[in-house]
Amino acid sequence: MFEAELDDARWAQVQSRDRAADGRFWCVVATTRIYCRPSCPARPHRRNVSFHDSLASARATGARACKRCDPDAA
Ligand SMILES: [Zn+2]
Repeated sequence: MFEAELDDARWAQVQSRDRAADGRFWCVVATTRIYCRPSCPARPHRRNVSFHDSLASARATGARACKRCDPDAA
């Protein structure tokens, strides 16, 4: 799968708040500098979101854990 297609699939999971995606990838929101689990109720704009395969990778961006979805527990 191409990277862009993988991101499309991940974004679709974020939009549907797919709990099955929790723990499989994390979203970092560039504008707020927080990271979230895919099912987070926060609705960032896609252009601000990057996807990470691991919690360590999300944290490495310097982002903080979202208080709404508690991504560290995912
Ligand atoms: Zn969140």
